[in-house]
Amino acid sequence: MPELPEVETVRRGLQQQTLGFTVERVEVLRERAIAAPPQDGLAFGQCLQGRSLQHWRRRGKYLIADLDHGHWGVHLRMTGQFLWLEQPREPCRHTRVRLWNQAGAELRFVDTRSFGQMWFVPPGVSVESVMTGLQKLGPEPFSNSFNATYLKGKLAGSLRPIKNALLDQALVAGCGNIYADESLYVAGIRPQTRSGSIPFERLEGLRSALVSVLEQSIGAGGTTFSDFRDLTGTNGNYGQAAWVYRRAGQPCRHCGTPIERERLGGRSSHWCPSCQH
Ligand SMILES: [Zn+2]
Repeated sequence: MPELPEVETVRRGLQQQTLGFTVERVEVLRERAIAAPPQDGLAFGQCLQGRSLQHWRRRGKYLIADLDHGHWGVHLRMTGQFLWLEQPREPCRHTRVRLWNQAGAELRFVDTRSFGQMWFVPPGVSVESVMTGLQKLGPEPFSNSFNATYLKGKLAGSLRPIKNALLDQALVAGCGNIYADESLYVAGIRPQTRSGSIPFERLEGLRSALVSVLEQSIGAGGTTFSDFRDLTGTNGNYGQAAWVYRRAGQPCRHCGTPIERERLGGRSSHWCPSCQH
């Protein structure tokens, strides 16, 4: 599943490839991909037609294109991906939405599992009122408002494992299973630790670990753990550097102790029993 670094990698690719792209024609092959106007591919296409893409933003795992009039929102969910095609190519059976510019270049949205969503936000309407999932998001991990004081206040008295708290998009936007496990390892905190019991200094360590792990992965172009591909079809390579994620039974890269795995909140957690307390 794409997490923050993958979505940020996609954003950068879109920003590079599609700036100034003016939508000449839209084809929606699967109505379900269109969240607004609800399941109406024709209306969605009409809204986007003639619009030019001015800037791509990211908020949590949402992508938002600022258009010359209105906004275009996208959530990749499990398997959504964009392809940039300068030469005509037959669509595969997982192709959901196709957009062409005047020069015939195509921006294609492919989504095997088909959970990805798109929104058109009309001019003069707030993005959050249409893409309602944005309203629930906590601060961005790279923002100043995400700091140890914020974490201490939010987690005060909480008995839930810190791993589960990190996966909560209302606490911090964009962190998923991979980066929760990796940042807890870097911070030396066991995933089962009760959130409310973690002292201020260790929360600061966790914040900085999450930021550095995310930055490292963005620098590497996203992770190889999923079938994630960027706009050119390239897979990232963070996987080679994983400390604990999907390394159950293998020796810790620091101390050699076998990495353990346990299910927490329905997701697999990986940690080193010697390095994490
Ligand atoms: Zn270790």
